Amino acid sequence: MRPVAIITGGSFGIGKAIVEKLQSQNYQVFNLDIEASELGEHRYCDVSQVEQVQKVIQEIIMETGRVDALISNAGKHLSATIEDTDEATLDALFALNVKGAYAAVQAVLPTMKLQQDGKIVFISSDQAHVGKPNSFAYNLTKHALASMAKTTALDYAPFNIRANAVCPGTIETPLFHNAIDKYCAKSGADKALIVAEEGALQPLGRLGQPNEVAALVAFLLSDDAAFITGSLQTIDGGYTAR
Ligand code: NAD
Repeated sequence: MRPVAIITGGSFGIGKAIVEKLQSQNYQVFNLDIEASELGEHRYCDVSQVEQVQKVIQEIIMETGRVDALISNAGKHLSATIEDTDEATLDALFALNVKGAYAAVQAVLPTMKLQQDGKIVFISSDQAHVGKPNSFAYNLTKHALASMAKTTALDYAPFNIRANAVCPGTIETPLFHNAIDKYCAKSGADKALIVAEEGALQPLGRLGQPNEVAALVAFLLSDDAAFITGSLQTIDGGYTAR
């Protein structure tokens, strides 16, 4: 029987690389995303809508009868200070980055408990470890996911369910390029220069790639990681080691 994985935000970037990796390992992968994708089994889902997430996941589980892995990946970036973040913007970011994860975990837990087996990976960020300027709300949401990994790990360890957070540094994805584009449009800076500077900021001297994050996620889902739960796994070229 093929193991079943559910991922949020699997159409582009890190999520897409995770879908590819898990498919290469024979997983049946369901991708909940607002954008269509030919990879995996795409199900339209706006992850910021709790009821929609729960409904789509329940439908998948009705179909498959099981769920082995959940990867909560969908998330958006926001560059702003606390003063520049109004309540509606804060709520919208929380709805996707945090409540979307909450909804997905709630939806898979009953089945994982019955199975006495399940693995959950939250895609958090290096910002679960360090603050960054102009990143008030995004930083808050990524800390929240690290917290969710720890509390879920503790509450569900008796059911043999493992939960971990992956904390990527700067990874070259559409999210990264959009953030740089916005910055350059605002400041007039040269994009190539900024991208090179971002790479140079990392101790390993380069940006990370989505497939590198996907390899870590696949490891955490595997039996080789059977004793790893409640952990925050950095994958950031050394950025947070300083
Ligand atoms: P991305 O923008 O390249 O891809 C995000 C994916 O989520 C896309 O497929 C998009 O369609 C989907 N998505 C967006 N809003 C959605 C919604 N409302 N409902 C369902 N799907 C939605 O982003 P990425 O860089 O691949 O980031 C993936 C995750 O990794 C995010 O949680 C992000 O915060 C985290 N992360 C990224 C970096 C980085 O440098 N790229 C670093 C640390 C953490």
